Amino acid sequence: MHNKDLLNRIATELSTVCDRDESMAIARYVMEYVTDNKLVSSDSEFSQESKEWFESILARLKNSEPVQYVLGFAYFMGNKYKVNQGVLIPRPETEELLELVYKRSGSDNFTAIDIGTGSGCIAVELSKKYPKARVYAVDISERALAVASENAEKHKTQVNFISDDILNPAMENYPSVDVVVSNPPYVAMDEKEFMHANVINYEPHLALFASSPLEFYEAIALFAEKKLISGGEIYLEINPIYAESTSEVYKRKGFTDIELVKDITGKQRFLFCRKL
Ligand code: GLN
Repeated sequence: MHNKDLLNRIATELSTVCDRDESMAIARYVMEYVTDNKLVSSDSEFSQESKEWFESILARLKNSEPVQYVLGFAYFMGNKYKVNQGVLIPRPETEELLELVYKRSGSDNFTAIDIGTGSGCIAVELSKKYPKARVYAVDISERALAVASENAEKHKTQVNFISDDILNPAMENYPSVDVVVSNPPYVAMDEKEFMHANVINYEPHLALFASSPLEFYEAIALFAEKKLISGGEIYLEINPIYAESTSEVYKRKGFTDIELVKDITGKQRFLFCRKL
């Protein structure tokens, strides 16, 4: 099967589950995998084995399984990350969160922690961008920590992983930090019915849902009260529906310079603040 036929076949098969743009994007992911893994010979023909593989992944894609899980990788900040169903697929919003961090001024020789690291994409990108920084990353999920460690290794970065529950953290295990970054679970239970099948059926609920919308933001504020240095910065991805109440959490606790920042779609998706 030639590349063009392959692209068309995917686009046609997926026309019932997603729109043309999305199916073409998925097809390109598949093509990249096919080329990288040399699944086609020089005359662009699939071997029998690759044909079977192709049919099996097509069936999974038709079931609305995200292509990133089917193939085991996703892009974040232009770099390739391993993903599986134990971690969220990195979102473009979270790239914008990193862009906010990159605008910071001050020394690059800092200590940062990524809370709820998942695939490790934030922590790995931070340590790439700031080679002098010490980067820590915490997660409750062992499955996520395994993926994150692989990603740190793959990108040849040094990230210090901590296995812990940020809702009930063992504070003595953490260093004091200059920067906190987090994209915690922030989807409220009552939003579930509005979510797409590809998210709800495949992505880890542990990483998506909070039992109350502010619980992780309260926990992060408590963590920052204990471990963030005076003048230290907090960068958070937040649920736009609860932007004001999230910012209240930090106001009440005396954090300063609180700023709500919009994402490219115009939603209040990020919160920045500083410890007095
Ligand atoms: N932005 C994610 C979504 O689309 C949620 C990420 C999170 O809960 N941190 O559902």
